[in-house]
Amino acid sequence: GAGRHLWLGTSWKMTKTLAEARAYVSDLHREPVPDGVELFVLPPLTALHAVLDARPDGSVLRVGAQNGHWAQDGPVTGEVSMRQLRDAGAEIVEIGHSDRRAQFGETDQVVAAKVTAALDQHLVPLVCVGEPWSVRASGRAAAHVGEQVRTALSGVAPHDLARVLVTYEPVWAIGDSGRAAAPGHIVGVLDRVRSVVDELAPGVGLRGLLYGGSVTAANAGALLDLDDLDGLFVGRAAWTADGLAALLRTC
Ligand code: PEP
Repeated sequence: GAGRHLWLGTSWKMTKTLAEARAYVSDLHREPVPDGVELFVLPPLTALHAVLDARPDGSVLRVGAQNGHWAQDGPVTGEVSMRQLRDAGAEIVEIGHSDRRAQFGETDQVVAAKVTAALDQHLVPLVCVGEPWSVRASGRAAAHVGEQVRTALSGVAPHDLARVLVTYEPVWAIGDSGRAAAPGHIVGVLDRVRSVVDELAPGVGLRGLLYGGSVTAANAGALLDLDDLDGLFVGRAAWTADGLAALLRTC
């Protein structure tokens, strides 16, 4: 929509070699980025530097990471701190994706610790929340997601909420299900998220509230028509540069 700030980003998850990462970034830059669109890519850490380096002069592409540890440094084998991410050139850090909650046991408390650590290091946290199908089926999606947001943001100073991105990603809509949530369902959950944020810090508001889960170039337009939505977070449909370019054309 005209005059609106829209976030459009993708996580590559555990895909892409360095050569594939560089080719994607160079192909992507053939597509103009409309005014007001905040475009971002979250590559695997192995490709962070290659992606930063492949951006032509004047690029508006923002780059970030898919995870970061809450501690500043120390004996945490295999992990990378928010400070190290910032130092390596990341601007955004995704926190609490459902893959990490399901496969690595991340709880809302872990997510909260990572959010404050990210803000301390001047990163933009992109906090993922969303209900599993069982919760959706019992009609408690908004309540569930509202409590996830309340816990995830519990350590954030009120004025710092304006630095936080939240993305609503119903677990059942992500990945192979291929089934995006209906606009009416999304609106109900986003309303709850906004009211929780307003309770935490009246009048401050988030930096942005996004939706993710089986977004494609075919359904993006209808989703972006939702007044409550500040953008889209995309997996598979943006794993090619052409895919992300097609999504850009819907903004
Ligand atoms: C995701 O995993 O965050 C996601 C949005 O995936 P997809 O678009 O592939 O459903």
